[in-house]
Formats: sequence, C-alpha cells, structure tokens
Amino acid sequence: MTTATVVGSGPNGLAAAIRLAQAGIAVTVVEAEPTIGGGARTEELTVAGVRHDVGATAMPGAMSSPFLRSLRLERHGLRWLRHEAVLAHPLDAPADGSPATAALLWEDVSRTAQGLGRDGAAWVRAFGPLARRYDEVVHDTFAPLAHWPRHPLTMARVGMRAALPTTWFTRRFADEPARALFAGIAAHGFTRHDTPLSAAAGVMLTAAAHDAGWPIVEGGSAGLITALECELRSLGGRIETGRRVVDAAALGTDLVLLSVPPRAALRMLGGDVPARTRRAWSRFRPGPAAFKVDLAIEGDVPWSAPDARRAGVLHLGGSSAEIAAAERAAVAGRMPERPFVLVGQQYLADPSRSAGGINPLWAYAHVPAGFEGDAAPAVLAQIERFAPGFRDRIVATHVRGPRALESHNGALLGGDIGGGANTARQLVARPRLGFNAYRGRRGRVYLCGSSTPPGGGVHGMAGFHAAETALRDLGAI
Ligand SMILES: Cc1cc2nc3c(=O)[nH]c(=O)nc-3n(C[C@H](O)[C@H](O)[C@H](O)COP(=O)(O)OP(=O)(O)OC[C@H]3O[C@@H](n4cnc5c(N)ncnc54)[C@H](O)[C@@H]3O)c2cc1C
Repeated sequence: MTTATVVGSGPNGLAAAIRLAQAGIAVTVVEAEPTIGGGARTEELTVAGVRHDVGATAMPGAMSSPFLRSLRLERHGLRWLRHEAVLAHPLDAPADGSPATAALLWEDVSRTAQGLGRDGAAWVRAFGPLARRYDEVVHDTFAPLAHWPRHPLTMARVGMRAALPTTWFTRRFADEPARALFAGIAAHGFTRHDTPLSAAAGVMLTAAAHDAGWPIVEGGSAGLITALECELRSLGGRIETGRRVVDAAALGTDLVLLSVPPRAALRMLGGDVPARTRRAWSRFRPGPAAFKVDLAIEGDVPWSAPDARRAGVLHLGGSSAEIAAAERAAVAGRMPERPFVLVGQQYLADPSRSAGGINPLWAYAHVPAGFEGDAAPAVLAQIERFAPGFRDRIVATHVRGPRALESHNGALLGGDIGGGANTARQLVARPRLGFNAYRGRRGRVYLCGSSTPPGGGVHGMAGFHAAETALRDLGAI
C-alpha cells in the first residue's frame, strides 16, 4: 500500500490528506503544534469562554470551494453563519459637522449600489456580471493556473478587471465611498495598489460577497477543521500533533506533501529537490506581515457610523489614497503611521463566541515583513478614530506580531499570512512557472499550501490539486 505524510494540519494539509485517503493511500498528517488547524484555529485567547479566531475568520473561499463542498461537511456539524452586512468601510466625519457614515457592502449588488449614490451604476457594471456567474468564476479560478478555462468569456471578464492596478480600477468611481470601499477589499492582497494585478483580490472577494457573503463558522473557524478531521478519520487517515518535521527524508513514506512555503520546504528537504526547482523555490519570497490583535470587549464597539454595527468585517484605513500609501509603505518595509486595519465582530452573527456580556473582537494590521515593533497602539488608534470611546470597553488584549505568528505557525514566514508576496510575477509563477506548480520531485515530494495555486485563503483547493497531481504521477487516477 502506498504511504504518504502530509506536513501541516491547516485547511490545505487536511484537504490533501482527505483526497489521498479517498484514493486508498495510507496517510498521516504531522502537525508541529499541539492542536490542528493552522490558520483556522479558534482559541480562548483572552477571557475564559470567549472564543477568538486565531487566524482566518471570514471564509468565502471555503464555502464555495468545489472540493470542500463535495465533502458535505455539514454531516460533521459544520454550520455557516452570515452577517446582515458583509463589510462596512467607515469614513472620517465630514468637516461640516454632519454625521459620520460608512460605505457598505451587502450581499445584494443593487442594495450596495443604492448606498453608493452616483457610483451605484458603475458598481453594478463592475460586479453584477461576475456575481451572476460566480459558479463559473469559482470553477476556473480555483483550478490550477495552467489549465484551459471552461468558461472563457466569464474568465475574460474576470481577467480584464483583475489585471488592473487598484488605482486604475477605482477611477471608474467618481466619489470616495466607492473608491475606498473597493481599495479596502483590494488591500486583502497585501500589495502595492499601483501595480498590475493588484485589483485581483478585490475583484474576487467582491464577487464572492455578492454571491453568498463572507460567511463565518458557527462557534469559530475551528469548526471547519473539526469537520475535516472527522472526514479524514472516517477514511482511515491518521493525525500526529506536537511533532515538528525537521528532516522530510526521515519520514519514511512514499509521498511527502508539505503545506509550507517553498523556502521552509527546502529546509526540510535537503537535497531531495531537483536543482531547477530548488532555484525557483529559493527565489519565491514572502509578502508583508500581519500584526494580530485580539480583544475582549464589554458590549459593542461604539462606531460613529451607525451602519458599521451591522457588518461582520470592517476595513479601517480611510480614503483610497490613504490605504494605497499605507500598503506601499508596508511593502517597502516601512511601518505606516496609520496602517490598514481589518476588524471582525463575528459575535454579532454568532453569540456562542461570547461569555457573560464579553465579546471577542478580531483585528489585524498590515505591517512590514518581520516587523519587530509593537503595532498594537496603531491598531487601537485606528479603531478609536472611527469609534471614539472604544478603548474604555476593552477588558483584555492578546497580541501576536509577525515573529510570534511565525513561531506559532511555521508556514507564516516573517508573519506573511498569504503564502508569498502577491506581486504580478508571483501570482503567475506560484511558486514557479510551468505546468506543475505543486511538484517538487515526481512521485515523491509536493507542495500543497497557499504558496501554490489558487493561493492564500481557506479553501483547501491547493491541497486538493497537490494530492491530485501526486495521484496522477503514481498512475492511481
Ligand atoms: C491572522 C490571520 C488572518 C487570516 N484571515 C483570513 C480570513 O479571514 N479568511 C481566509 O480565507 N484566510 C485568512 N487567513 C489565511 C488562511 O489562514 C491561510 O491562507 C490558510 O490557513 C492556509 O492554509 P494552509 O493549510 O496552506 O496553511 P496553514 O493553515 O498555515 O497551516 C500550516 C500548518 O503547518 C504546520 N507546520 C508548519 N511547519 C511545520 C513543520 N516543520 N512540521 C509540522 N508542522 C508544521 C503549522 O503549524 C500549521 O498548522 C488568515 C491568516 C491569518 C494568520
């Protein structure tokens, strides 16, 4: 019987293991940490009973992932929840003393357009066609990069929008609310807004929002991991926790799949990779970092814009120009004075995460790779800017900067949570040019994490494609 080890128990590692087990391979997942889940763990980081998503929280990719959907994980207790509004982007209060407002992203394209005034029609033109054909978009964007699209017209529409620099894309909007709303979504790509393809993350995440929102898992993201674990064990797969792999050759299985970035993989593999692959993997570099701040708060955040209290996610960065400047600084290795900050108030849709009137608030800022300083004051200042009096509601704080993120999860090199910088080159060569992004050595070693297509986020599709590649190489499918 063919044997396999999957290194790392995040969504991609578990998806890879499940696909291998489905094909009759004897598979073991090896995880360095005491608990499984990688970037999709949930822990009581601050106050007993208050559940924080340690990494990922909003998971449009997981809900629409063709592989995860095929597993019917609801059988194992997975339940998706959605917020009334997908996203709020608070804007500074106008100087004339009129009330502060927020641009809102709703699941419904028309409702979003209504709130964007004279930019409403342009918003519908940009995203309506993609939202209507989101199944086709998912099918082709979740496939390996080198494939012939099954829906070429839809993919042409995606490509024409995604290829643009964000600063060009936003020119179709006349006013700041629509520009800032899109710039904040595009900032999920952790990249300079004046470079080609920097609109890609914004285009995909907006289309997903208008399809079925940005759902969260009831009880926390770990619920998805528990469901994947149940599925893997039902297929005979094994999991070992608390074992950090240092030498992949010592694993002794026929196949080794690694859900870590190429540089981390090279450290484990020694000479077990052909020279050309080794050169390409060595060149593939991490992107800027996240600085995570989890808060326990009494009651709600006192947002100045009343609508901000209805959204699951908030983008705090001000205008599109301010966000572009903050992202440029982070990419260049300079800590922005006012970094781009994402906030999640998941407890609004999922009260099971709270305890005794204390609610979890999830936040992180975009900071330079490997940033050693303390960005927590800048994160709190951004929240306070749009919610004066917020600090008075904080009961407890838990902070993880880039180095702490990496020591907690060896896949987050320098605190990069996206599996590699999303430069135009690295979006195409992920992690190298050619027909197979996943293969390290045929029939032996494969990469299966977010440094391979379709890239970062919780969807399990990189793991699925890596496993399929290995199975094809073995002649097993
Ligand atoms: C703060 C933060 C916020 C995020 N927000 C979102 C979000 O809202 N939505 C979203 O979709 N995505 C989000 N992400 C990204 C998402 O978590 C990742 O893209 C996803 O988890 C990648 O899955 P993976 O399986 O490839 O790797 P990971 O989930 O990172 O798992 C890798 C695993 O490998 C293990 N490992 C590493 N080295 C070794 C070793 N030598 N031996 C054994 N085990 C090892 C690690 O401990 C880890 O468990 C976020 C991530 C972070 C950190």
